[in-house]
Amino acid sequence: MKYIFVTGGVVSSLGKGLTAAALGTLLENRGLKVTLQKFDPYLNVDPGTMSPYQHGEVYVLNDGAETDLDLGHYERFTNTKLTRFNNLTSGQVYQTVLDKERRGDYLGKTVQVIPHVTDEIQNRIHQITEQSNADVLITEIGGTTGDIEGLPFLEAIREFALNVGYSNALFLHMTYVPFIKAAGELKTKPTQQSVAKLREIGITPHILVCRCEQALNKELRQKISLFCNVRYEAVIEEKDVDHSIYEVPLMLQRERLDDLVCQMLHLDVPAANMSHWQDIIRKLIAPQHRVRIGVVGKYIELQDAYKSVYEAIIHGGIANDCGVEIEKVDAEEIEKYGPEKALTGLAGILVPGGFGERGIEGKIITAQFAREHKIPYLGLCLGMQIATIEFARNVLKLAGAHSTEFDPNTPYAVIGLLDDQKQVIQKGGTMRLGAQPCQLAVGSKAAHLYGAFVVHERHRHRYEFNNAYRTQFEEAGFRCSGTSPDGKLVEVIELDDHPFFIASQFHPEFQSKPNAPHPLFRGFIAATHAYLHRRPL
Ligand code: GLN
Repeated sequence: MKYIFVTGGVVSSLGKGLTAAALGTLLENRGLKVTLQKFDPYLNVDPGTMSPYQHGEVYVLNDGAETDLDLGHYERFTNTKLTRFNNLTSGQVYQTVLDKERRGDYLGKTVQVIPHVTDEIQNRIHQITEQSNADVLITEIGGTTGDIEGLPFLEAIREFALNVGYSNALFLHMTYVPFIKAAGELKTKPTQQSVAKLREIGITPHILVCRCEQALNKELRQKISLFCNVRYEAVIEEKDVDHSIYEVPLMLQRERLDDLVCQMLHLDVPAANMSHWQDIIRKLIAPQHRVRIGVVGKYIELQDAYKSVYEAIIHGGIANDCGVEIEKVDAEEIEKYGPEKALTGLAGILVPGGFGERGIEGKIITAQFAREHKIPYLGLCLGMQIATIEFARNVLKLAGAHSTEFDPNTPYAVIGLLDDQKQVIQKGGTMRLGAQPCQLAVGSKAAHLYGAFVVHERHRHRYEFNNAYRTQFEEAGFRCSGTSPDGKLVEVIELDDHPFFIASQFHPEFQSKPNAPHPLFRGFIAATHAYLHRRPL
């Protein structure tokens, strides 16, 4: 196996994950089997317990691991199958080391960061090496060079690369080359300093990927090459993209990053054929149609809180040759000003997942507005629970109906705790998580969209539809069109008397890709387009 280690310097939010994923796309298209892995230097065991303000989206894998959102990029950009072993945090490393210490595995030795913690980190690289049959493993190290907490990870990859040799492992460092307006110049000093910081630890980067707002000219590349001790052609420019993150692989291909990587790692493979990817970009830049979609949530000011949802909407657009403009609507604004102001004129409305009471009433008003005005509605997880509460209150006339998550004393608990959640006290990793089978009803819109009767989708929730109300709902045209195979858990609902009102207890957004848009998002965007032109579906 060949190893690529991706580090970042100067500032955070450089798009390391995206760059790692885009490099993965290029290598895959050269015929290589690629897998990716993320190291996160924080002490949480996983991001599942972190607030979206701290961390952005929690990305869920098939096996139920709650992981960093960069793993979402990895799955969207490549065909790699990820498991909980593809995301390692300092918290996990220390937990393992301390468990070993308590068991007496260290045979009386003093347990230290070097070698015990660093060995544990390297073990994870070995584990992926053994488990996957990939040709290349790209490992991204979270955080920024110079952070104290990142040091054990950097030391571990330094040792690892030394052991496997530099023809099998390379260091790719991402930096930022800022444009200083007053001077009218791009500046290389922060890059020089962050490379110096890496060299202090014993890592000499082989490739520098420079994020910049303006193109790097020849002199600048020469300067970076000279001062940072990298080959001239290994100074790679990664300018801000014009339209879409999906342009990044093509941009890096133009900079010949994949050629360079293959040459350095002695991978003798043909050039990447990116024609299908170019077709995707074409649809993103010059789509035949356009729609405006509202996403009604409570973290709308955060770019990353609904990352996979936004991406899946864009994929649904690609599938319909339709550009989507996403209107981010704060549910609390709807509580204050009513739905008309924010929702009128939208071709579709999506209510994503969420926890906690804030903004709930605004989301319920949103679902009502979509139902009554026959605007296409897609509800995801909490979005399905919201649709249920709204229907109970306004159609079934169950006044005060609610989820026990938000009102434990509701007279009509149409959403309640899952049975196996009732004894759970611990917060981390204890929800209903990961891929579960779902049976779709014959003749349902969901089955039609999927073109299948059994699907596997990823979950992350504690509450569910209360079956005591099922008959009452179904008789009123609220169809439980997807259930767990034993029929006990409602997984998908849809309204009979509506062109497109579908909601799922699972998170379809985690399995959508630009080159394989998810059926529910494909159907949703098709419905929005039909709605806009008042055409039957
Ligand atoms: N809070 C809800 C639950 O736990 C919904 C979770 C979600 O939307 N991911 O069931």
